[in-house]
Amino acid sequence: MNTKVWTVDAKGELSTNYPQITQAAMLLRDNETVAFPTETVYGLGANAKNTDAVAKIYEAKGRPSDNPLIVHIADIRQLNEFAEVDSEKANTLMERFWPGPLTIVLPCREGALSTRVTAGLDTVAVRMPDHPVALELIKRAGVPVAAPSANVSGKPSPTKAEHVVHDLDGRIAGIVDGGPTGVGVESTVVSFTRGIPVILRPGGVTKEQLETAIGPVMIDQGITDEKKVPLAPGMKYTHYAPEAPLAIVKGSREDIQRLIEQYQKDGMKVGVLTTEERAGAYQADAVRICGRRDRLETVASGLYDVLRSFDDCGLDFIFAESFPEEGVGRAVMNRLMKAAGHRVIEV
Ligand code: AMP
Ligand code: MG
Repeated sequence: MNTKVWTVDAKGELSTNYPQITQAAMLLRDNETVAFPTETVYGLGANAKNTDAVAKIYEAKGRPSDNPLIVHIADIRQLNEFAEVDSEKANTLMERFWPGPLTIVLPCREGALSTRVTAGLDTVAVRMPDHPVALELIKRAGVPVAAPSANVSGKPSPTKAEHVVHDLDGRIAGIVDGGPTGVGVESTVVSFTRGIPVILRPGGVTKEQLETAIGPVMIDQGITDEKKVPLAPGMKYTHYAPEAPLAIVKGSREDIQRLIEQYQKDGMKVGVLTTEERAGAYQADAVRICGRRDRLETVASGLYDVLRSFDDCGLDFIFAESFPEEGVGRAVMNRLMKAAGHRVIEV
């Protein structure tokens, strides 16, 4: 398949032109797959009502079929077609955080969407992305758009169009290149289906922000406790892994440098993931700077690009610094833990 790439330089509101977006929207209407930028990561979209279209997403990504997709909307009126809002708190969150990096799990109307979108569950995960290109594309497609991250399953999610090209060129119909995404980690997924609000996946909207809006919110224990099964089917899979094994180190920069030297003595090529504050602190085969630790949102923004960049270095092992699990740091540590296959070195 020849993957078409359109470049859209869109800041703020989009005017009615941009024929690239109309062409991409036509492909979605034709039940083809199109990757597009959102404020979190690039998504791989397809018409959520059509099973053939949705099947193409799973096939292109190599995604396990029991892992349901998030449905993206551009207008709150679209929601009623396929989901029920049966919680006052869910309403409050939509008003407060949409468009934005928050996904809400709601009861799904029977027959309104392809059952492949929900992987047979009676609930559907929905969000309205805060990105002018994504909103315009969904609007012009005129259908709800199912879209997981536009990467090969298991790899770090794409935050630049070039990441999508690297993973999916030739396997999808089109890519809308709208430049690098901003937030860098995926949306927070919240469920109300058990009465109380539960975070199924930490993400761009923090627990603290949610609690300011609706009071106490729980975190699914399946996310933090390896022995418990997560409530979101997708959270049980390995994800975000660079090619070389990675370990998170809870220790000082001196401890990390000692580990690097120890591994190098054993003949290994070693990489390290650090931040601007400690840029000069390490002697390693690859030192990658990921934002500033005093502004965790910058770490989130650069994380997947840095994880991907290690793959070009021919490394045998990677050490990553640890980050505080507060604010967006929860999402950063969740993704790093998965990238590390839960390998943590405490020194
Ligand atoms: P991705 O599309 O790769 O960003 O992942 C979406 C996440 O939301 C995965 O972890 C899914 O398992 C989860 N998810 C999607 N739909 C549902 C649902 N109806 N109930 C619970 N989790 C869901
Ligand atoms: Mg994903």
